[in-house]
Parts: sequence; C-alpha cells; structure tokens
Amino acid sequence: MLEDKDRTELSDLGEFGLIDRIAQSVEITQKSTVKGIGDDAAVLGTGKVKTLISTDLLLEGIHFDLSYVPLKHLGYKAVAVNLSDIYAMNGKPTQITVSLGLSSRFPLEAIDELYTGILLACDKYNVDLVGGDTTSSISGLTISVTAIGEASEENIVYRNGTKETDLICVSGDLGAAYLGLQLLEREKAIFKDNPAIQPDLTGHDYVLERQLKPEPRADIIDILELEKVVPTAMIDVSDGLSSDLMHICTQSGVGCRVYIDKLPIDHTSAIAAEELNIDTTVAALNGGEDYELLFTVDLKDYERIKDNPAIRVIGHITDKGDGYNLVAGEQIIPLTAQGWKHLEA
Ligand code: ADP
Ligand code: MG
Repeated sequence: MLEDKDRTELSDLGEFGLIDRIAQSVEITQKSTVKGIGDDAAVLGTGKVKTLISTDLLLEGIHFDLSYVPLKHLGYKAVAVNLSDIYAMNGKPTQITVSLGLSSRFPLEAIDELYTGILLACDKYNVDLVGGDTTSSISGLTISVTAIGEASEENIVYRNGTKETDLICVSGDLGAAYLGLQLLEREKAIFKDNPAIQPDLTGHDYVLERQLKPEPRADIIDILELEKVVPTAMIDVSDGLSSDLMHICTQSGVGCRVYIDKLPIDHTSAIAAEELNIDTTVAALNGGEDYELLFTVDLKDYERIKDNPAIRVIGHITDKGDGYNLVAGEQIIPLTAQGWKHLEA
C-alpha cells in the first residue's frame, strides 16, 4: 500500500479528472489513430471511411440492480448504450463484441435471457456480434460491450467543433430514464420493508421503458443525413444534459445559454416527477441515461431542422467568457455539471 502522504483520493479528481490525467500520459504514435481518448468513440483509419470504436463497462450493483432489471432488458440496454456512442459521432454501428464476468449464481437460463436481449438489439440496429470474452467473477455480473462503426471522414462529428451563435439541439425528451429509476428504487424500498405489498408502477410505462429499454437515436442520424445537416458538435446524453453539454463547451472553448422553458419533457415524466416529488427541470438537466443526441448546428441549418418534431432547439452557443448559463424567464442561473459521481464515496 502507498503511504498516506502519497495518496490522492480518486474522488478528488472525479471521473472526468481521472480520464484527463490518463489522456495526458498517452502519446499517439500510429498514423491511423485520428482521434484517441476524449470523444464518444475513437476514430481510426487512414482511408476516407473511418472506423469508430467505443466501449462501456457495466457492473452489477453500480450500473444495474438485478432485483428489478430483467436480464433480457439488461442485455438490450448494454448494447443500446454502446451503439448510442457510435451515433454520437454521426456514424453507423456495424459490429459489437460482448465480454462477461459471471458468478456461479447464474444458471444457463439466465445467460440465455441476457443473450436474447443482446441479440434483439443487434437485430434491431443491424449489427453483428463478432466476439468477446468470458470469465468467472466473484462480484456478480459484469458486462462490457465494445461497439464498432463507420463513417465518412467529412461526416464525423466531434465534441470540439461548435462556435459562438451555433444552436444547441436535443432529440426526444429528457429526464424520463432517471424518473423511471427513481420509481423502481421506490418500489424496491417498499417491497423490502413489506414483501406482501405488490409494486405499483401503473401509468408509468413510458418512464420505466426509458430506464429499462433505452433506444439509441439511429433515426436522428438518418434525419441529419437526409436534411444534409452535419452538426458542428455532438455527444449522446448519458450523464445528464448539463454535464454532457459542458463536455461540448469545454472541448470547443465556448460558453452556452440554455432556456429552461425549451427543455423537452414528456407529460408522463411530469406526472412521475410530481408523484416522486422531483423537479422536472432537475431531472432533465442532471438525470442522465436519456441516450438522446445533444448537438449544435450552424445558424444556416436552422430551417432544415426547425420543424422536425424529434428535434428541439434549447439554446445557443456563446463566447467562452459568458460561461455556462441557464435562462429561466428574466433570471440567468449558472449551469453546473452534476453527472454520475461513481467515484465519490
Ligand atoms: P461516454 O460517456 O461517451 O461513454 P466516457 O465519459 O465514458 O464517454 O469517456 C470519455 C472518453 O474517455 C472516451 O474517449 C473514453 O474512451 C475515454 N476513457 C474512459 N475511461 C478510460 C480509461 N480508463 N482509459 C483510457 N481512456 C478512457
Ligand atoms: Mg457518449
């Protein structure tokens, strides 16, 4: 063990601070590494069509709770969230690999369920499962998915390309997945106290589905292609709008202004939020796991996206000096990144 005086707590750095530190110590030597650490996917290749690659690790007890997540849904979600990172580069996914850490707690039937979900997502998004790894685990279930995709060089969208006056757009709606999780956690707590009480989740299908079976926005990539709009920057909303928008802003060296009354919130999310006593704006800004696409477009492209019901303009990019702000009526509130704080005790 390190002596106490040499010890820096990971929670002091946070997840993003730690990744920055790792990135700083890495030197790129291959000509084919176009983009390494720092975006939704790495970009590789020397030809016009580039390979995109992204990986995610899901741990039982941290990312999912098998007491209320069906294995089939878990398999589907594990694939879906990885494909989302390929779409976030404005690319198309083509293959995945799946690696598992399994404890003896799981019978074959459980693995079959998991793979039913994995293969359902592969089928829906037209990707091939081409490999992986399997090991035993002493700490429950671990799933790691790597997604591979492709995109033409000129279509790839990074986090760092936005500029002042660009419009900030988001697909779908926000906050529902977080509210779905809070409902599941509430019912779990009630059940723990009194196993005779059956869970009451009626009327909450939408937010539960958003939590348990998210769909990556392949359709938005198709719309952008059809409308001949290449966003100036893009990221998928995994940690929460605030946190993910700040990744775009810090990497692009700009500020932003988001209008609270423009945030897309489904009416069933509002109902769930009221029942749970959670502010819908907080859920939309900091909830996370929405897997929507957050992107910026040049003003000249406004006409091409403004009438699309799947896309909402929620604000605009400003000079860096203006900072990151939220506009609520006459009030301007500084936007803070919350995100997931896995590394905090
Ligand atoms: P996302 O939320 O889009 O999946 P992350 O925040 O997980 O993105 O990761 C941001 C960037 O940091 C990505 O380029 C990812 O590949 C990289 N990254 C994350 N963890 C590590 C690690 N341990 N070593 C090297 N790169 C990492
Ligand atoms: Mg991402």
